[in-house]
Amino acid sequence: HSTSPMIVVANRLPFIISKDPENGKLIRKQCAGGLVTAVAPVVVETGGLWVGWPGVHLEDGIVEIPESDPEDKSPTAGLKSSQVVPVDLHKQVFDDYYNGCCNACFWPLFHSMPDRAVFQGDKWEAYKTVNQEFAALTVEAVRRLKKKSPNDVPLIWLHDYHLMLAANHIRAACELEGLEIKLAFFLHIPFPSWDIVRLFPWDDELLQGILGCDSIGFHIEDYCLNFIDCCKRRLGCRVDREYRLVEHNMRTVSVNHLPISIPYDRFVKLAESAPVVVKNRAKEQLLLGVDRLDYTKGLVHRIKAFERLLEKYPEHRNNVTFLQVAVPSRTDVKEYQELKEELDQLIGSVNGKFSTANWSPIRYIYGCVSQDQLAAFYRDASVCVVTPLRDGMNLVAKEFVACQTREPGVLLLSPFAGAGNSMHEALLVNPYETNEFAEILNRALTMPKDERELRMRQLRRREKHLDVNFWLRSFLKSVDCLADSNRSAS
Ligand code: UDP
Repeated sequence: HSTSPMIVVANRLPFIISKDPENGKLIRKQCAGGLVTAVAPVVVETGGLWVGWPGVHLEDGIVEIPESDPEDKSPTAGLKSSQVVPVDLHKQVFDDYYNGCCNACFWPLFHSMPDRAVFQGDKWEAYKTVNQEFAALTVEAVRRLKKKSPNDVPLIWLHDYHLMLAANHIRAACELEGLEIKLAFFLHIPFPSWDIVRLFPWDDELLQGILGCDSIGFHIEDYCLNFIDCCKRRLGCRVDREYRLVEHNMRTVSVNHLPISIPYDRFVKLAESAPVVVKNRAKEQLLLGVDRLDYTKGLVHRIKAFERLLEKYPEHRNNVTFLQVAVPSRTDVKEYQELKEELDQLIGSVNGKFSTANWSPIRYIYGCVSQDQLAAFYRDASVCVVTPLRDGMNLVAKEFVACQTREPGVLLLSPFAGAGNSMHEALLVNPYETNEFAEILNRALTMPKDERELRMRQLRRREKHLDVNFWLRSFLKSVDCLADSNRSAS
């Protein structure tokens, strides 16, 4: 794999910095998801850097990045403080960029929910300012690396919808100083169709911003083709849909589909030692949902379908329980508070309607659960219900499959999640179709064991192979190919 130093540029650093309440010392708090687990070791190994917002503002009195604790065994432990570049942002600018533009505009728009998107010029200005700041610090990081080893060609990897405008600033500054780099971008959410993208008032700037990279990655082919289509229709670029290339400003940009995944083996291990949740599956069937509390996840649609199931198939009353874990998200935003209200009320009314002396249909956890607990839920669930209205990939579907180490359960999956593109043995369900949804829930709950086994075996085989390390290797390969073809062309 690639040995050039990797500079990851993401909205967040791979850990949160906070003050130890006991002695006031700065410490790193881990928040290692699959992405950090896979990517941080590459940054460590290649002597690279991580550029990101530390989760606090300098005004709050944080002035430096602490070294990792000697006991720290997390994937970021090897990351020295000199390899971490904190981006300090003024509170108001950060709020306009992060909440005003990223969350209030790009999040709904890219999930094809334009009615929820707010377009405001001043928020877009803040977004541009912040992207420039990230770019300036990244260029500074490149200079530092080049000073140490002038022949290395750093690989700069920009992440997600927060940083769609940084590439051209980085490219221009590096070209001016004769610093050779490779620039890649990966989008962790969907890329919508031209019909949606064109609603964004500054769509041309946005597309040109992304095209500042040499290599662009999306989860699935549909998103790649949407992006290519937008470049052609909005910017008039010459494109090759078959080889997924876009010509722009005398450069050829390659567009790749790179479906992200999970650390599969880690989830298997967790499941093997997790505590028991369901003792007797013949008597008690668990339907499981695990989501951030977000309007894209289709939680209300799901509860309504479950209600329909209980109305239509009363035999499931008393022995089927729906366990929904909803992780609090963007709790300071009104839209999210309203969604929580709506869900609270709906769950209350369904529970009120069907509960008996010793059974309630819905168990609802509003909060985070530990990884052990989550693995136990995944392993013991009869059905995992992954039914977002729209989702870039959805890792819960994959984690469920990895944790199915005992009696095989059934995965219900929305075709509007990226995961629906490849997990063919799941039962596909359109979350908007309540009656059909209830029918499929019933089918999943009553599916014969041999069919469950067959489906789950194939799902597990695929996910084991296409895990997060595969994703990382595919990415590195795509960037290497690109460098080779550029070199041979010049
Ligand atoms: N998750 C978590 N704590 C919880 C419940 C879930 O950390 O209490 C994790 C879960 O393991 C998964 C992630 O949150 O890795 C959700 O990722 P997904 O792609 O499904 O959705 P996203 O939240 O990124 O939109």
